Amino acid sequence: MSSITNHLPTAELQALDAAHHMHPFTANGGLAQKGARVITSGNGVMLTDSEGAQILDAMAGLWCVNIGYGREELADVAARQMRELPFYNTFFQTTHTPVIALAAKLAELAPGDLNNVFFAGSGSEANDTNIRMVRHYWAMQGKPQKSVIISRKNAYHGSTVGSGSLGGMSGMHAQGGLPIPDIHHINQPNWWSEGGEMSPEDFGRARAQELEQAILDLGEDRVAAFIAEPVQGAGGVIVAPDSYWPEIQRICDKYEILLIADEVICGFGRTGEWFGSQTLNIRPDVMTIAKGLSSGYAPIGGSIVSDEIASVIAQDEFNHGYTYSGHPVASAVALENLRILEEEDIVGHVRNIAAPYLQEKWQALTEHPLVGEAKMVGLMGSIALTPDKSARVPFKAEAGTVGYICRERCFANNLIMRHVGDRMIVSPPLVIQPDEIDLLIERAWKSLDECHSELRKEGLV
Ligand code: PMP
Repeated sequence: MSSITNHLPTAELQALDAAHHMHPFTANGGLAQKGARVITSGNGVMLTDSEGAQILDAMAGLWCVNIGYGREELADVAARQMRELPFYNTFFQTTHTPVIALAAKLAELAPGDLNNVFFAGSGSEANDTNIRMVRHYWAMQGKPQKSVIISRKNAYHGSTVGSGSLGGMSGMHAQGGLPIPDIHHINQPNWWSEGGEMSPEDFGRARAQELEQAILDLGEDRVAAFIAEPVQGAGGVIVAPDSYWPEIQRICDKYEILLIADEVICGFGRTGEWFGSQTLNIRPDVMTIAKGLSSGYAPIGGSIVSDEIASVIAQDEFNHGYTYSGHPVASAVALENLRILEEEDIVGHVRNIAAPYLQEKWQALTEHPLVGEAKMVGLMGSIALTPDKSARVPFKAEAGTVGYICRERCFANNLIMRHVGDRMIVSPPLVIQPDEIDLLIERAWKSLDECHSELRKEGLV
């Protein structure tokens, strides 16, 4: 297909795209008029579009291309595996070498007794697995009433009916009849927007204690699990105050509530450790993985679960699975990706070089008149745009208007930064080098300046 379309001029590609392709999370009518940017190739942290522009991808695709674009080794492994065994399932008493090796490698990398992997094709599917698995785990122990899963407002856990229900995105719940029953949402630890007069530490503790209150309100015998991203990603890279996670861990332990850490973004080096749970010192019973597992080179996700859960689930048939659970090609690609992450010490590069370098420059963005707080954990960061830093107030325009203007300026300046409301977020490939970070920051400053002049013209600052 690409050989058919590659030679077409951009306008024709855009017209075909507009005519036949429904983009996710997009107002397709508006995009059709404007035309989608056609991305043709990638190398390292840079993308090339059909007009030849060189774009710095400060989002690593969708937070996933951890080892950067253009690694031939993954292509070679995929081709080899496709020739040898393109597909076989693991449902009916069979297995294959890529999935065996990948499961064993993940057990080695994951903390504690998280030694058991149930594979899926994506993060959404893995979280659907988690819903069924933790409920089934309690049912197997004679406690079927323990079925409520507590999550957080503004969390993102995927787009399927189950995972979209776990997530706390009001815009998603407004469409298609979500959430499913027995999902309960508490408030998020977003101090900048919701902390009011409280200190970040008091606020973090108070928000964590909402979990305890919810457990008491719902009844301890009704609650199966709490799910959260170590750092909320799609919600706007919301970094909880330091007081938050120790309190959450205490509450989960006290009431024997399973803790599910959704590591889909935080996993595989993003936070400077293999998993965000290690950076934030939490002890999950289940971790959701996807994205960085294969650096996005192949669709694969999964749930890594504790020995305790796995041993209970193993007592009976768990009536659950996906055709592509442990897909041989995706597994082989993921394994090669993990080899590269490990052998090139990319996690160490994040922790010792890239993250400290970016964090310093990121923090300096708060000197820009539009930037309130700047947050960063490892290589995931956000800045809050505001007309008044000290009052932490939003703009007079509808939330997201200014973020969108800023994102458009970045896009025009060949920098991919995303906006969530009026927060700008970054999550670059983990292999980013200091000179590329300089370029990222240079383009970000320029875009912020241009955004600022536009806001002045429109009377928004
Ligand atoms: N969990 C988190 C924390 C995510 O960020 C995402 C995707 N952005 C998902 C789950 C869903 O993963 P997928 O898109 O692969 O289904």
